[in-house]
Amino acid sequence: MLYNDSTDEAGNSWGMTPAIDRLALSRTLLSITRDGVFFMDSCFRIRYANPVFVKALNMNRQEHWACVDPTPPELSSPIKEAGSDGSHPGLHEIYTDVRNRANLANAQVALAAAGFWNGDLIRITPNGDSRVDEVTIALARQASGAMSNASDTALRYVGVARDVSDERAAHERLAWTRNHDELTGLPNRALFTLATDQIIARTGEGSLALIVADLDDFKQYNTSRSHELGDRLLQETARRISATVRAGDMSARTAGDEFSVLMPIRAASEAREAAQRVAAAFSQAIQVDGECFALKASIGVAVWPADGNDASSLLAAADLAMQACKEKGRDGIMLYEEGLTLDRIGRRAMEKDLRSALDGNLLSVSYQPVVRVDSGAVESVEALVRWCDPERGDIAPDRFIPLAEETGLIMRLGEQVMLSACQQGLHWACPTGPSIKVAVNVSPIQLEHPGFTDFIARTLELTALPPERLVIEITESTLLEHMEDAAATLTSLKLLGVSISVDDFGTGYSSLAYLKNLPLDILKIDREFIKDLEGSEAGRDIVAGIINLAHRMGLSVVAEGVETAGQFGILRELKCDHAQGFLFSRAISPQEIESRYLALSGGSRLSAFLN
Ligand code: C2E
Ligand code: CA
Ligand code: CA
Repeated sequence: MLYNDSTDEAGNSWGMTPAIDRLALSRTLLSITRDGVFFMDSCFRIRYANPVFVKALNMNRQEHWACVDPTPPELSSPIKEAGSDGSHPGLHEIYTDVRNRANLANAQVALAAAGFWNGDLIRITPNGDSRVDEVTIALARQASGAMSNASDTALRYVGVARDVSDERAAHERLAWTRNHDELTGLPNRALFTLATDQIIARTGEGSLALIVADLDDFKQYNTSRSHELGDRLLQETARRISATVRAGDMSARTAGDEFSVLMPIRAASEAREAAQRVAAAFSQAIQVDGECFALKASIGVAVWPADGNDASSLLAAADLAMQACKEKGRDGIMLYEEGLTLDRIGRRAMEKDLRSALDGNLLSVSYQPVVRVDSGAVESVEALVRWCDPERGDIAPDRFIPLAEETGLIMRLGEQVMLSACQQGLHWACPTGPSIKVAVNVSPIQLEHPGFTDFIARTLELTALPPERLVIEITESTLLEHMEDAAATLTSLKLLGVSISVDDFGTGYSSLAYLKNLPLDILKIDREFIKDLEGSEAGRDIVAGIINLAHRMGLSVVAEGVETAGQFGILRELKCDHAQGFLFSRAISPQEIESRYLALSGGSRLSAFLN
């Protein structure tokens, strides 16, 4: 266009412009454009380069001003010198990097065939850096559409080269952050899923193991320590996992404290071995600022093609196996098996039924008497939830309480039981003797809820139950795991006037001294210890030790799971305060509590066990 007497699209006529002006305009245009511009002849030799292109090619810009001439410009040095045959250089002599080879060949073919080419060419700067030029070359056409002068030396192609290195780097960076986890530098879930599907598509022989490792109790580092510590531990875990896997394995951070690895294996039988390689990343404690942290992980493994045929089904299967590992006590490896899916389906159905039972207020509460060891009097009862499903029959709390905790239904369940127990407790006020207390079990999830104390205060107000008649039972393990938050919650509960009981004591392996800073009233010795009372001296000594220490700390002691008169006799000798168990009664309906115990003269007295 630049050299033709024609009218452009905007109606400007080059033909009307004096030649000297056109030359000036062309020069100016070519000198101010930020792109490199060059003209080539029909043999693809560069015969003109504008200052930007000359500079980009590290040529002396001054000598090229002479080239900007509307008559077919003669090439002057140094382009002439750069040419291998002492004439004008071809593109390949300027874009010398071997990575350009295919593109340069394509360019020649495309230009000869279609008169247009666009592509990337890599340029090496004098200091050795690689830059990427996006190059567009087009055949210059006459106004009539005919090709320009066909002689070898005539200018035939116009090229524009734009340095897109920075732009591309910014794009790549953006693409990288979309697909990677900034903290650890590992691929994220999206990229892991995509890459897994691609690997599956091109894997013919053999198998793949998809391994999901979820850190155990990691939340505590973030909540009870600091997020910085949490971050450092995650970074180090990522580094270790990357170091333990082999080249060709792919690792990723697929969730907050979950890492996944895809490993090619020869056969499904190698899956456990593959998972052990990931587990090795957790074999040694991590040191941060001189402190040691022994992280553990629950690992689930799924195998392609046996356990799923795409990334999402494999991830779901490995996740189920990992969850099963957590339920089995964490810190281990679990391979996926079909039963896990069936379990999950069964649990979903059970969750649905539990939800409708809660909606219909169909759960009931039974009460198990707790007796005084010295007098046999029933001074309190423990509220125990009962679920009798019309089709499933009676379902044990040990089965549905964990489900309720996992699904969050425990909040509603806990509210219903608390309300029912407090109403019942008020109903059992005894006009002639001391009224019986009601003990209610509280799940860690309820205790963690910031509104828990308010909830108790409102329930007491609503039911008009005097606070001293309510006992809240919290397991020892809950107290140990939530020590910091628990202390504040327990203090506020105590201010309401309710009593606090440590349930299942002895199963959390804590010493009593550990609990001495908490405002506790009652200690319930777990039934495992009561079982051992008659059998061995050691069993008896342990229980004696617990009772003595508890008394010294001002706590009253309840022995749980008392089934035999022999056990009861020993507890009496050991000066245990209260006992609860099948020897006296199972958990029974409120009506039975009334007819058996409250109807007796003297109110809630019960002396039948003291013979
Ligand atoms: P837990 O708090 O330790 O409750 C005592 C459990 O021991 C009850 O089982 C009770 O029936 C059983 N038990 C009582 N005496 C004996 C005995 O002499 N021998 C034997 N072998 N067992 C005895 P249950 O009712 O099946 O409750 C199991 C667990 O479910 C409870 O253990 C408690 O952790 C949980 N739970 C029950 N009701 C509730 C509730 O309303 N809320 C919450 N969060 N948990 C509950
Ligand atoms: Ca209990
Ligand atoms: Ca218990």
